[in-house]
Amino acid sequence: MLQTFDMLIIGTGPIGYVAAIGFAQAGMKVALIGPADSVKRDGRTVAILDGSVQLLGRLGCWDSIHPFSAPLSHMRIIDDTGSLFRAPPVTFKASELKLDAFGYNVELPDLVASLSTIASGHALITRFDTHVSELSSAGDGSLAAVLASGQTLHAPIILGADGRKSAVRAFAGIEVKEWSYPQTALTAVFKHQRDHHDISTEFHTRQGPFTLVPLPGRRSSLVWMMDPQKAERLANVSDKTLTQEVEKQAQFILGTMNIDGDRGLVPMAGLTVNRYASENIALLGEAAHVFPPIGAQGLNLGFRDVSALLEAFSSKCGPEALAKYNAARQADVKLRTAAVDVMNKSLLADYLPIDLARSIGLLTIASIPPLRRFMMQRGAGY
Ligand SMILES: Cc1cc2nc3c(=O)[nH]c(=O)nc-3n(C[C@H](O)[C@H](O)[C@H](O)COP(=O)(O)OP(=O)(O)OC[C@H]3O[C@@H](n4cnc5c(N)ncnc54)[C@H](O)[C@@H]3O)c2cc1C
Repeated sequence: MLQTFDMLIIGTGPIGYVAAIGFAQAGMKVALIGPADSVKRDGRTVAILDGSVQLLGRLGCWDSIHPFSAPLSHMRIIDDTGSLFRAPPVTFKASELKLDAFGYNVELPDLVASLSTIASGHALITRFDTHVSELSSAGDGSLAAVLASGQTLHAPIILGADGRKSAVRAFAGIEVKEWSYPQTALTAVFKHQRDHHDISTEFHTRQGPFTLVPLPGRRSSLVWMMDPQKAERLANVSDKTLTQEVEKQAQFILGTMNIDGDRGLVPMAGLTVNRYASENIALLGEAAHVFPPIGAQGLNLGFRDVSALLEAFSSKCGPEALAKYNAARQADVKLRTAAVDVMNKSLLADYLPIDLARSIGLLTIASIPPLRRFMMQRGAGY
């Protein structure tokens, strides 16, 4: 049976849900397509920065997410490269921006479950718990999606929030550039002896950042970027051995630790597109940009995609709004992708002049108040 909507949103990661809630609240009849249980509990958490908290607040989602989040009131960077030109530890405080927190850390499955409940309760959102198996242009100028369940949906606009292997992107003919890094991220959640005091700590090691991010109670999530072979080994050692390695790498700042749940492994990669929209299709989130998890930027960039698209559609719908969206996203996405790439590569380089430049860069940012505030504002997702 053929069904017609104002918009088809493909993908049920956090970005697909938030886009569906946003456009439904703007009065559009939305079809949201994607599996209901697509996110595994493998230690991945996401820090939702202040700019994104404000978007989620405007959309009426934040009050149901806040209770299972932990505030990040301080962000500490420790140079653990062992280089001759190590910068001293630097701590940024949210209070310097007159904020209670730079953002809030949540377990990804909890975030997605909460957004899913909100989307399911919205009268203008119809959910299809399945995959899109084929996309085509219908004769009347609209687009058609054939679902794995056999249904066909029509709409004048499709949003691709279908992640890094986006079929929507391929259908739109949008060019993609992909690359990889010689690193894999190991993710896990730990209980620990000492309070984290709402401080997120990023140790910059020669193989990439080792980051501990607060969760509610005496719990923190770990993102440890390292050489893929070492990551594979640590993914398979006993809980006790892994915990000992993590305690040591963390310089015992959280005391003794205990792993709490499953571990995840994510190969590090990057992806950019040459445009964010075509005449009747827009890409959001990881369908449009991927980079390593440094400085909690990826999902927050996706939330800014949603904000920009809602803003573009607030005055006009259709191709003009999509062109406006495409123009609006160019600088922000390129800048964040390049900044993360440079930071990551500077750690991997193991070359003294680069170490010196990185240390001077961090010290300059930390010690010049207007620059410090500017960088903290960018870091907090503005
Ligand atoms: C270790 C790690 C830590 C991170 N930490 C942070 C952080 O602290 N802060 C931050 O901002 N970002 C962080 N990120 C990035 C963040 O996790 C991602 O940007 C975000 O989860 C991507 O969401 P998405 O909705 O764009 O894509 P996805 O979550 O990949 O969702 C895509 C969805 O599309 C669905 N789909 C695919 N194909 C189809 C199809 N044909 N039909 C229907 N549905 C389809 C999939 O099932 C999936 O549900 C981190 C990333 C990693 C790897």
